[in-house]
Amino acid sequence: MALLEVSNLVVDIPTEDGTVHAVQDVSFTVHEGEFFGIVGESGSGKSVMVQSIMGLVAGARTSGTVDFRGRNLLALDDEAMRSVRGREIGMIFQDPLSSLHPQYTVGWQIVEQIRAHEKISQQAAKARAIELLERVRIPDAAARFDAYPHQFSGGMRQRVMIAMALSLGPALIIADEPTTALDSTVQAQILDLLDEMRREFGATVVMISHDLGVLARVADRVMVMYAGRRMELGESANVLCSPAHPYTAGLLRSSAFNREPGTPLVPIAGRPPSLLAPPSGCAFASRCPDAMSICSERPPLRRYDDGTEVACWLEGEPGEPPAPELPP
Ligand code: SF4
Ligand code: MG
Repeated sequence: MALLEVSNLVVDIPTEDGTVHAVQDVSFTVHEGEFFGIVGESGSGKSVMVQSIMGLVAGARTSGTVDFRGRNLLALDDEAMRSVRGREIGMIFQDPLSSLHPQYTVGWQIVEQIRAHEKISQQAAKARAIELLERVRIPDAAARFDAYPHQFSGGMRQRVMIAMALSLGPALIIADEPTTALDSTVQAQILDLLDEMRREFGATVVMISHDLGVLARVADRVMVMYAGRRMELGESANVLCSPAHPYTAGLLRSSAFNREPGTPLVPIAGRPPSLLAPPSGCAFASRCPDAMSICSERPPLRRYDDGTEVACWLEGEPGEPPAPELPP
């Protein structure tokens, strides 16, 4: 069943230089209980998209609909949206230090968040906070309740953020690059914890990452974004191991994920187009090794037998990249 249904979402952000077309007609559905990944290079619109869905981008002009449990989130006023945030949708960001207040203990912050949304005694909220800290495996949780954010390691702080996101029993958790700042061992632990908590609490997770390997570890399905548009969407095993879109294929060649030993990383040549004046045709055309003349028109969405949906004119496998230039 669909938990979140995004239809024809457009996000325009007015700036001094003109309007940034951050999200251009993106649609996708997140099913109840799944782990949904969104991948793309930085600047592809992933964060802006989820933040504007949550009403967190000041000045953004949005159109389309974001259906969450029968309500269009884009049509809610600030107060209604504040109640959705935290209570129904929990959020986890890359840098917990920017979401945690440095001058209050983590326990106090979890208790405050619970009490802002629920009529519950201080004692009961504290008991719940300690239980949550235990469940995300903060050692000695009752004592750590009174510690300040800077007294935790990066990985432990992210565990606190997960506890906080779960504290009100949200149906959906949105995690934006939650492990990017962590080293790879801690990163794997946090991903596994997030996945475990999703099952235990019966939540759905939408996770943004620029890292294919991170999403391959946990995501059931992934959506690939580029220049504010949706390029490919399907089961993560299909999309990340045998991509159908030339951009996804390029991401894979430039990533350490699933790499045969000894094969070099091949970065995608060129730069993404300016979102002040996005191309009318395929947004990836200027960097695509498979580009054809028809690509100056907006590609249709094709659906493959395995269910993967791809916005591309190419029929069949994306080709090899052009040979790297030899040094003189
Ligand atoms: Fe490349 Fe054309 Fe496909 Fe765009 S539509 S990704 S330019 S082949
Ligand atoms: Mg981002």
